[in-house]
Amino acid sequence: MLAHCWIFSYGNCRGKIISSWETIETAWYDTSVQTCALCGQMIPKRFWEAEVRGEALVFCSEECEQLYRSYWLPKYGPKENER
Ligand SMILES: [Zn+2]
Repeated sequence: MLAHCWIFSYGNCRGKIISSWETIETAWYDTSVQTCALCGQMIPKRFWEAEVRGEALVFCSEECEQLYRSYWLPKYGPKENER
């Protein structure tokens, strides 16, 4: 369950409120792999789920989510005022 982060508009949200660790439940015959939205690393067991711009994204760690927000989004993501 992802709740809206009310302090994000102040640029102060570290993802603590809307993010959570989730566990991948896969059977041995399930060959699908979850990969990190930032670094593309395969995530074997636990993934970090965070809401980024209304989308639920999967990261391998909190650090990747913070990098995604502070580096990737401003550089490659859609601009805030292009909605
Ligand atoms: Zn990662």
